[in-house]
Amino acid sequence: MAFQKKLLAWFEKNKRPLPWRKRYRPYEVWISEIMLQQTQMETVLPYYERWMKAFPTLEALADAPEEKVLKAWQGLGYYSRARNLRETARRIVENFAGKFPSDFDSILSLKGIGPYTAGAIASIAFNQDKPIVDGNVLRVLSRLFAIQDPVDSAAGRAKFWALEESLIPKGRARDFNQALMEHGALVCTPKNPKCPSCPVNADCRAFREGKQEAFPVKGARKKTVRVAAGALVWKRGADFFLHRRPAGAIMGGLWEFPEWKLAHGKEMSAREAHDLTFDRARSEFGTEFDAFEPAGTIKRNYTHHLETLYVFTAEGGEPSKDARGWPSAWVPAKKFSAYPFTSAHAKIAEIATSLSDTPRKSRTISRSGKRS
Ligand code: SF4
Repeated sequence: MAFQKKLLAWFEKNKRPLPWRKRYRPYEVWISEIMLQQTQMETVLPYYERWMKAFPTLEALADAPEEKVLKAWQGLGYYSRARNLRETARRIVENFAGKFPSDFDSILSLKGIGPYTAGAIASIAFNQDKPIVDGNVLRVLSRLFAIQDPVDSAAGRAKFWALEESLIPKGRARDFNQALMEHGALVCTPKNPKCPSCPVNADCRAFREGKQEAFPVKGARKKTVRVAAGALVWKRGADFFLHRRPAGAIMGGLWEFPEWKLAHGKEMSAREAHDLTFDRARSEFGTEFDAFEPAGTIKRNYTHHLETLYVFTAEGGEPSKDARGWPSAWVPAKKFSAYPFTSAHAKIAEIATSLSDTPRKSRTISRSGKRS
């Protein structure tokens, strides 16, 4: 138990005063765990504070309109998580009398909570002897024990899960799991781990062998695929055209400017993107525009994809049809704050806002971009 004792003593002295560590309320632990999935602590903290002001209790979240919940989540990505939080809160109110369940299987039965998150909630909120295997824990354990199994494989994860569970000092899961995570965040960092001052360096096999940065072992990386997309900032007087993504679709319930995928697996020039977006917009809405101009590009990164989103502004025209059939609205820029957008479309909204007071000359533009 020597290494566990040293780690617990280190945690006691060095733990950060995170807001959910004040009382370990299950609701607060749950929200923090979901927000911290694939998001850095510094990014999460202001979101967490705002969230707790907007939805201070599970009941407040259950009663909140979906649009308000999505708006509070805007910028964190993976919007299904925000929808699941609200739906789960409603289910807890209905099925568990508003009390967050404490047994592992009931936690696991909740929407949006897999075994790793259930382990985190059971151990941190309820101090049950359940393991946590987040990125920090995987890194620390892989180095301490010089584990060669890839941390990104299912078999590797299962092995780490069993190992972590076997290491928990009885009745100390809350502190021990957080100590491992905190140590990974502050000392055993991905690059340049602070080994000379590490409290468990005498127990660390990777350190003894001088191979700290060879761990954690990862499987072969997939190649990044290039993607191009075009988006339209369509202005009519003071208003801009927005679509609402339908429920059930990816990012359902979020609002966005019209957008089209233009190319997958290849580069696309700005000129080609202009012509394709122009064609798609005319055909989808059955209209001609008085002006159609480039307004900037936005880079988006998502699992193994690197996307260039070309943004165009258009004026004039009237939709004679809307091929997508999604709910839509003409919205003035000053009302954008009430509409939940993805991060990319929040950036497009900034472009639209900067245009909202700029009168433009009427002109027409041909498919090749020549004005007349
Ligand atoms: Fe991590 Fe270095 Fe400590 Fe090993 S000695 S646990 S590699 S910080």
